[in-house]
Amino acid sequence: MRDETKLATLGRDPEGHHGAVNIPVYRASTILQPDLATLRKVQQARERDEQVVTYGRIGTPLTYAFENTLAELEGGYRAISFPSGAAACTGAILAATKAGDHLLMVDTVYGPTRQFCDTVLKRFGVETTYYPPTIGAGIRDLLRPNTTAVFTESPGSLSFEVQDIPLIAEIAHSHGALVLMDNTWGTPLYFKSFQHGVDLSIHSATKYIVGHSDAQLGVVIATKEAWPALRETTRTIGTAAGPDEIFLGLRGLRTMAVRLERHMKSGITVAEWLRGRPEVSHVRHPALSNDPGHALWKRDFLGACGLFAVELQPGVSEAAVAAFVDHLELFGIGYSWGGFESLVTVAQPHRLRSAEPWNDKPPMLRLHIGLENTDDLIADLKAGFDRLNKAS
Ligand SMILES: *Cc1c(COP(=O)(O)O)cnc(C)c1O
Repeated sequence: MRDETKLATLGRDPEGHHGAVNIPVYRASTILQPDLATLRKVQQARERDEQVVTYGRIGTPLTYAFENTLAELEGGYRAISFPSGAAACTGAILAATKAGDHLLMVDTVYGPTRQFCDTVLKRFGVETTYYPPTIGAGIRDLLRPNTTAVFTESPGSLSFEVQDIPLIAEIAHSHGALVLMDNTWGTPLYFKSFQHGVDLSIHSATKYIVGHSDAQLGVVIATKEAWPALRETTRTIGTAAGPDEIFLGLRGLRTMAVRLERHMKSGITVAEWLRGRPEVSHVRHPALSNDPGHALWKRDFLGACGLFAVELQPGVSEAAVAAFVDHLELFGIGYSWGGFESLVTVAQPHRLRSAEPWNDKPPMLRLHIGLENTDDLIADLKAGFDRLNKAS
């Protein structure tokens, strides 16, 4: 089955639900059993890691449908859902480390994941070293005897450097370390992480999986070997996703392939237009042929989403940037991405880099290209540049 067919068919059970096309939302904490013998039987089945329905937090038919669909889509063994992408990132790290361990963390990781490593994880006795995203084989020199996990995120948050995941995975595995990846940008469709050596693949499902900016959800998909620790840790901590969010995640998956195709096409169209603008010094988008990460992206990825960054000309004033951004009509100013609508934020990586300093770079905008018509988006941006020039 191809991915589009999987998205339309997996995680459905009309026979089990009076013919309903979609599995309904199960709002449940208590699950009643007919007698003690059955209660014991389902408990034992749960201990054998069967997907039985015993308690709301552990999973309902809807939870398992969502998790199994994602595991099959990306080619992993099993998946577990989280109440947010941030909880998925921290949950995967907690599953892969213990006190006294050393974690190698990519310098371009999503900001809150970095903050977790610098605070909570540190408090629990795990040391983090940040490495540059383009380190490649150099990762070998940073491995210590107690390095148990290498965390990757490709392309990097805000600055979009592409990592050589297969190479890093090969080196990490030869050292006995697990490879974790925040694969939110690639999605389970455009980066098949398990074919490239990843052990735990993390997604903020809030982005393209939910796809409509109306729910927060996360998921971690594991190999067979990495699954038991992930399951045990997550179940013990109790970070369970809510039923309505899971419903929206599964619903979003049905149209994700079509949406992503358009986000990719429109994103490249707008990025190429921006590249030709005199107000722009550099466009950071791995699908553009002159991007430093393009060769790796082309080798390993099956597509691109609609998120990239634009560096303006050096010296452009804060007032001019505000004149550009503040009056855009089709780009909302706000965090997150992956919904149907276009967004813009000012990216400030300098506060989030320690392996390689981020200094003396011009102001940078992060754009999410939504499902609007690109002629309208480009006209909006063009009017923004007129305002920027007037304010300069
Ligand atoms: C948004 C995001 C997250 C966090 O997801 P939430 O659902 O907002 O908690 C994690 N990683 C990346 C790369 C993200 O963009």
